[in-house]
Amino acid sequence: MTTPVICRPSAFPIRRITNCPTCKQRRRMAGHDALWYGPTLTCCTCGDSWTSGEMHDRPFQRAWRTEAAAKARRAWTEAGTYTRADYDAWFAEAHGRPVIDVALPEAAPAV
Ligand SMILES: [Zn+2]
Repeated sequence: MTTPVICRPSAFPIRRITNCPTCKQRRRMAGHDALWYGPTLTCCTCGDSWTSGEMHDRPFQRAWRTEAAAKARRAWTEAGTYTRADYDAWFAEAHGRPVIDVALPEAAPAV
């Protein structure tokens, strides 16, 4: 049996307080930023997720909201340990150039 190799870009944990379309109010959102794909954020209250503003499909399973929101709250805590300087260093290493003239995740319009 062969082992599949799944390629994905490196990701950096991020967190934002922004308007949640599902909750219809400002909520804590946590996730990661990845090159080429843009930020992926999950609402810490309702558990819905978005990548670059596109909502993810909701899983067909019981209690997915509770589990997704709990996971997002853990990601929120983890992302709080990083600074803007850490983000800039990750970006420069992953992208091969410093953060200059690049729309940063916090500059993205609120959904
Ligand atoms: Zn929400």
